[in-house]
Amino acid sequence: EPVLQLRGVTKDYGEEVVTRVLFGVDLTLRPGEFAALVGPSGSGKSTLLNLIGLLDRPTEGQVLIQGQDTSKLDDDGLARMRARSLGFIFQFHHLLGAFTAVENVMMPLLADQGYPTPEMRERALALLRAVGLGERAESPPSKLSGGQQQRVAIARALVTSPRLVLADEPTGNLDTGTSVQVFELLRRFNVEQGTSFLIVTHDPRLAERCDRIIEIVDGRIRRDEPVAH
Ligand code: ADP
Ligand code: ADP
Repeated sequence: EPVLQLRGVTKDYGEEVVTRVLFGVDLTLRPGEFAALVGPSGSGKSTLLNLIGLLDRPTEGQVLIQGQDTSKLDDDGLARMRARSLGFIFQFHHLLGAFTAVENVMMPLLADQGYPTPEMRERALALLRAVGLGERAESPPSKLSGGQQQRVAIARALVTSPRLVLADEPTGNLDTGTSVQVFELLRRFNVEQGTSFLIVTHDPRLAERCDRIIEIVDGRIRRDEPVAH
């Protein structure tokens, strides 16, 4: 069963003056796929990612996550689906400065149950070790380098074992060497855990490291093809 299906997804912005920014997008992502979403600025990538991330609803069409039609869910239902099935990584990692690395990683687990438990902490520590930051668990984000902060954000995105991770320019503010390391880390989780990834990137070299490139232009999928490695 696909982790994600978009069926005829259209998005309009505005009320008096309506602007259509997505035009009937169809897209299927299978378990374990590692796909890049590319396209010029303003083409609709962020809008599409927000719809897939259940942060916004389409004007027309359906978003299915693991076979479930999310148009049938109310806002609480969307929030539960988001917490259970999806992980998010952003260009600016949005780590909370007042908390340690391990506390930041635990945050998505707290959404389910309002207080931290020893199991949550163990799980978060395991993820920090997996991204090579076991020794920095008690550091606040401000004491970590940009690449380390992004690795904490990756641990946080993966701590709930999501089936699909959405990454918006995950290496956008990192130098080339660090970008490749962060990217390889995503790839490792993809291979080891079978997690699907949809990665928005402006960097053609990173897109070429994915298994599939989906290009969106003016709100329509212009190209969708496998990458030959
Ligand atoms: P990029 O994808 O290049 O990082 P953004 O997604 O931030 O850029 O923005 C793409 C375009 O969308 C820009 O032209 C920006 O002005 C416009 N935009 C983003 N958010 C809004 C908004 N809330 N209202 C109107 N226009 C927006
Ligand atoms: P991308 O991420 O590819 O840069 P976006 O999805 O941000 O593209 O934007 C697609 C189009 O939608 C752009 O023309 C942008 O100006 C417009 N847009 C994005 N967000 C909003 C918004 N909240 N209100 C109005 N227009 C928006």
